[in-house]
Amino acid sequence: MWSRNANLEAKKRSADRRQREAEAPRLLQETPGLQSLCIELTESGEGRFGPATSHIRRFEISTAPALFLVLCGDPHCDGGGHDITCEVMAGLRNHEARIEGQDSCGGGAGGVSCTRSIHYAAIATFE
Ligand SMILES: [Zn+2]
Repeated sequence: MWSRNANLEAKKRSADRRQREAEAPRLLQETPGLQSLCIELTESGEGRFGPATSHIRRFEISTAPALFLVLCGDPHCDGGGHDITCEVMAGLRNHEARIEGQDSCGGGAGGVSCTRSIHYAAIATFE
């Protein structure tokens, strides 16, 4: 029963996310002249996850929505994640080649606040 509910929750969450992405303005509309964009994400936290992990997310400029949501790395985290849309879009509008920042997860797992946080570095090129 529990796992069925969790499954439904996850489905609803990814549907919500898809809807937000569909409704968001397109990246190219918001930042004319943008040529390429990738974001390097480094995620860290206490406990069972060990050392920080990092990966690079690339964006297809012609189709990407102007929306930057990063899921929490803890699969048990409830209501967490990182919305870095405001920060990244503000930097892109100023034609900044590198936009860096940090964000802590606001969710929780099993009644305990989530300790995960991310460091991001967006690297953009413009025409
Ligand atoms: Zn979290």
